[in-house]
Amino acid sequence: MTGDLRSPAEKHLAGETEVEFQCGIAASDHIDPSEPEACPHEPETIELDEPAYVDENGRIHLSGRPVECPECGQPFEFEFNGVRVMFP
Ligand SMILES: [Zn+2]
Repeated sequence: MTGDLRSPAEKHLAGETEVEFQCGIAASDHIDPSEPEACPHEPETIELDEPAYVDENGRIHLSGRPVECPECGQPFEFEFNGVRVMFP
């Protein structure tokens, strides 16, 4: 073995039911808070319906997660426990 081959989602999210959730835009380092598209969402702890898991395709499943940002309403990009997750 040369190291831990698990993905960040597997390391930091899999098996968890209580996770820190933040809007991906708010969490982004690339958007200045004074920009109009910036989002003020603060990280919050949420409870999932079932433990998070990563399927064979590497997709993370977060049952009961918020479907959109409570501040800016975007439904595409979030961070859970600091792991960026995109939803197509
Ligand atoms: Zn947001």
